This record gives sequence, structure tokens and C-alpha cells, in this order.
Amino acid sequence: MLVAAAATIVTLLVGDFASTFFYHVPQHIWFTLHLRTHHDRRRSYWDHAVISRDPSVLLDGFLGAVPYLIVAALLWRVSWPGAVLGLALGQLHVWWRHTTDLGWRTPAWLRGILRPLGIVLPEDHDGHHRNPDIEFGDIFRFYDAPARALLAKLAPISRRGMKRAGRRATRRAPAQA
Ligand SMILES: [Zn+2]
Ligand SMILES: [Zn+2]
Repeated sequence: MLVAAAATIVTLLVGDFASTFFYHVPQHIWFTLHLRTHHDRRRSYWDHAVISRDPSVLLDGFLGAVPYLIVAALLWRVSWPGAVLGLALGQLHVWWRHTTDLGWRTPAWLRGILRPLGIVLPEDHDGHHRNPDIEFGDIFRFYDAPARALLAKLAPISRRGMKRAGRRATRRAPAQA
């Protein structure tokens, strides 16, 4: 029982860590798939995060889930029920964290329980949809600060950063010639 509970927690903790630092943050820095799909402000994000069948939306969701699946596979021999429960809770959290669009407000008592555990509330994740530079971490909020630190560190070699540097270089070029 204890081993299963540990496997559940490790699936969520390590899965979120790997997904945040090896998928979500790199997507924000170098790619467009996640920004085009998950941060498409023209659509309700309940639609594009939960019920959409658009292949690129599904691909973003699947790639974000791969780290959790890898961790669950590694824990399979330790406790497969624990790993499965971790994946199930992770999926429930995906649905729950996108309910702000449907009018969900976290009640004070639940907020009181989840805040000390560092668990992302729908209101927190709503912040990430409104401002893609904040509120990283799918399930755990304590990944937000290191994720932002990494984003800041890699900003000069990000897609945006390199474009900006390219524009500066072309502006400087005529003066040098
Ligand atoms: Zn989202
Ligand atoms: Zn994002």
C-alpha cells in the first residue's frame, strides 16, 4: 500500500518535473506547437485542452504526457497500480486545471488544503494561459520559479531572442559597410 502510494506520488512529481523542463519550457523557448495550440487565445481552452480532436492539439497533449508515461513505465515493476493511479490522477488534474473557463472557482477549504502542498489550482493555470511567461508546472507550483529562471537564462538563445539579435545585426550591418 505504502509502495503504491509512493509510486503514485513519484509518477506525478518526477513526471511533472520532466514534462516541465524537457517539454513545456523548451516549447516556450524554441518551438511553436505548444504556443499555437495550448496558448491559442481565440479558443476556449476547455475546448482546446480537453475536448479538441485537432491533431496538433492532441500531439501537444501527447508529447507533454510522454515524460509521465516514461516515469510510470520505469515504476511499473515497483508498483503498477501506483503508477496507473499516478497517470489517472495526472489526467484528472489536466481536466480540472482547465475548468476556469467553465466557471469553476476553487472553494476556500480546498484551496486551504492544496496551497501548502504546492498543487496547481485551476486559477493558477488560468494565469499561464493569460500570460505564457508565468505559472509553469502542470501539477506542482514549486516548478514555476526554477522554470522561469531557466527561461530567463536561455532567453538570449530563444526563438524570440535570436530573432531580436538578428534584427539588431541587420540594422548594424549597413553602418559598418
Ligand atoms: Zn492549459
Ligand atoms: Zn505553456
